[in-house]
Order: sequence, then structure tokens, then C-alpha cells
Amino acid sequence: MLQKKGIYAIIGLIAFFAVVHLAFAPEQHDPRTTGTVMLGGVAFLLMTCSIFLSTRLAVFEDWFGGLDRMYQVHRVAGAFAALTALVHFFGVPKELATGVDPVANALVPSGPLGMLGLIFLVVGLFVALNRKIRYSRWRPTHKVMGLVYFLIIGHFMTAPDVFFDQFSASGVILIIAAFIGVTALLYSVFGMNKRTALPFIIEEVNALERATEIVLKPTGKMLDFRPGQFAFVEIEGKGWDEPHPFTISSAPDEDRLRFTMKVLGDWTRKVREELQPGGKVNVRGPYGRFDTMGAGKKQIWLAGGIGLTPFLSKIRAMKEGDPRQIHLVYAAREKQDAIFLEELQARAAELSNVTLVPLFSDEGNFARVDMMKQKLPDPLSDYEYFMCGPTPMISGLMADLKKEGVGRNKIHTEAFEFR
Ligand SMILES: Cc1cc2nc3c(=O)[nH]c(=O)nc-3n(C[C@H](O)[C@H](O)[C@H](O)COP(=O)(O)OP(=O)(O)OC[C@H]3O[C@@H](n4cnc5c(N)ncnc54)[C@H](O)[C@@H]3O)c2cc1C
Repeated sequence: MLQKKGIYAIIGLIAFFAVVHLAFAPEQHDPRTTGTVMLGGVAFLLMTCSIFLSTRLAVFEDWFGGLDRMYQVHRVAGAFAALTALVHFFGVPKELATGVDPVANALVPSGPLGMLGLIFLVVGLFVALNRKIRYSRWRPTHKVMGLVYFLIIGHFMTAPDVFFDQFSASGVILIIAAFIGVTALLYSVFGMNKRTALPFIIEEVNALERATEIVLKPTGKMLDFRPGQFAFVEIEGKGWDEPHPFTISSAPDEDRLRFTMKVLGDWTRKVREELQPGGKVNVRGPYGRFDTMGAGKKQIWLAGGIGLTPFLSKIRAMKEGDPRQIHLVYAAREKQDAIFLEELQARAAELSNVTLVPLFSDEGNFARVDMMKQKLPDPLSDYEYFMCGPTPMISGLMADLKKEGVGRNKIHTEAFEFR
């Protein structure tokens, strides 16, 4: 679930900037100039926050509730930055403020830099929001946004009212933000955000129904993770390009690391068709805060298709005597599609606190709130819900649970995409 601490920090930063800007606005600025220049600053700060969120720093996972949430906020902050920058551009008076020397101003590229930055920012926003553009094509274009950041720094550093005539107090905040933002950008672009990659050897590649399980043997230290966390898997060799995120489906006390990958696109198909035992893999992580341990005693786990993987790790890790009462609802298209069903049935039989409810849509059985309401021994609002699966299934269940009076703080979801 999205944690509010990070959101409050962003709002606090913007509010602080706005107050400083308004309190120390240059005297010759009319209210329109003051307001629109302030929006330009807000746009830059939002961009800085967005860059900061792409550093994947562990501390921010706690502030925002996991890396997937950090990327969501990264996207929203980027979108707001573009919108605010547009209002700034159209609203800011085009004539020079009183006292600014036009000749000196013509020598600095503030205007063209800002214009170029804005064009890239808006195009970047369009590309980011266009789901039809494939991830592999979108990703390199998105990296261009780093360049936009430098254009915007150039824009405000050469703007007349920041440095030439009056050195504004809010300008100082922007300069500090620029230092931090550039450091964060270099940190993520040059790979320092990748945390220590742990080396593994592929021991097994198991073809399952529409998915592939890879079993990895550590060549050094084993990855230390909690059930439900994920990691970036980087396969060494030609044509494997960048690391892809996958939930760890093994339990933390196993001496092997397992990932279960649904065949979705080029990379996952290559895994199924070409990956061979003996190959080298680097695993970066762990990330994620899809944690069921700290939640209430009555829990409903809702898995849709490959969304089973975080729960698989949790079930594999569970010990007899666990005080929680867990209902695991596993929705798949058909029985054949339900990977690891037999293992789950065996675990549910072993563990007295776990009830497994497999549902197959080809038999007309879907994960539905009205069904849960009938079958569960206690009222729906007594349970805490953990869901992972296709977006339409998750949003439908969330809406229905809310209608039944289940508080948002009792619903936890894991998204299998960052974009
Ligand atoms: C936190 C998290 C956990 C996940 N756990 C699992 C899992 O346990 N099992 C599973 O089958 N899938 C999981 N996924 C999804 C998996 O990462 C994608 O299915 C896979 O990367 C698809 O790659 P592709 O090139 O084959 O397909 P494509 O068709 O190229 O990509 C399909 C989608 O996968 C995502 N994606 C692709 N490449 C990347 C990348 N390098 N980095 C981030 N996202 C990318 C994008 O949303 C894209 O739209 C998880 C995703 C996330 C974010």
C-alpha cells in the first residue's frame, strides 16, 4: 500500500518553496509574474522528486511503501511537473521585467533552453502515458528525460530574475535541489542504484504451463530477502539487455533462489526458449514491501494467474503454528494453467491455518466479493486483504470491497509493472 510519509515530504517541500518564494518575491514583480515563476519552480522541484524516486534507494521504499509505489509516484510527479511547466510557460509575462538589460538578457539562453526543455517534457509525458508503446522501446526514450533536467537547470540559472538583478531566496532552494537532483541522476544513470548484484548459476530451467521456473544456485552469498519481495534478474550474455523484475518464488531458507516467469514478451520468451543450465545470472535486490507478517491475524490472499508468485514464497516459508488464519484464493483461467496447484494443495493440507480456494474461470468461477461474503466465517471487514494479479481483477475487487465497507488501509496490492 502507498505510504503517505513520502507524499507528505513532497507536499512539504513544495509548500516550503512556495512560502519562501511568495515571502521574498522581488518588489518589481507583479502578482502574475510572482505566481507563474513560482509554478516554474514547482515544476522543477517535482522533476527533482521524480528523479530521486528512480534511484531505488531502500530508505524511500519505506517512505512510499515499496519500489512499485515509488515508480507510481515518480510517474505522477513527472506528469504534474509537465502540467505545471505548461502553465508556467503560458502564464509568465513575455516582456522583460523592469530594470533587466535587454542586451544582457539576449546573451543568455534562458528562453530557448526553457522552451526546448518544455517540448521534451511534454513529449516525454505523452510517451510515458501511452501504453501502446512497448516497454523496450519506451525505456531508451525515457532516459532522454535526464537531458531535459539539465535544460531546465540551464533555463532558470540564466533567467534574469534569479541571478542578474535580484538574487531570489527561492532561487537558492532550486539550486540546492539541482545539486541533489543531478547527483541522483548520475547515481541512477551510471548504475550505482543497482545495489550489489549477487552472482548465481542457472541450475534448472523448468517449462511450466505458459511460464518458466528458473532455479539459481548462488556462487557466493545467498540473497537475503523476505517472502513476497522481488529482485531484478540480469542474465549475462549477448542479447539479454537490461535486468527484469521478478518476485522471488522460493522461501528465504532454501539454498536455491527460484523465479517463476510468465511468457509475456520477447525477454520472457527467450528465457523459455533459449536459457540453459550453467549460464550466469546476476540478481539485484531485494525490493518491495508486500509484507503480510505485520498485518492482522485474519488474512485473505487473492492471487490471479502469475500473481501467485509472492504468495508461493510465503506459503513455502510458512511454518506450522503460524498464528494467522489465511484464505488463499487462487484464480486461474483453467486447472491446467494453475501452476504449483498440487504443491499448494499439499501445503494447505499440512498447514492447519491455510485454506486454499482454487477458482477456474473456464468453470465459471471467478474471485468475487459476494462469493467471499457468503463463504467466509466472519464479516468481510474483519479481514486484511493482499492481492496480486491482473489490474482489472484487482481494481474490481478493490471497488467491491470498499462498497462492503472494507477500509483502504486493509487492502494491500502488489503491481507487476512500474510504468
Ligand atoms: C515488482 C514486480 C514483480 C514481478 N514479478 C513477476 C513474477 O513473479 N512473475 C512474472 O512472470 N512476472 C513478474 N513481473 C512482470 C515481469 O517483470 C514482466 O512480465 C517481464 O519483465 C516482461 O518482459 P518481456 O520483455 O518478456 O515482456 P514485454 O512485453 O517487453 O513487457 C511486458 C511488461 O513488463 C514490464 N517490463 C518489461 N521489461 C521490464 C523491465 N526491464 N523492467 C521493469 N518492467 C519491465 C512492462 O510493464 C511491460 O509493459 C513482475 C513485475 C514487477 C514490476
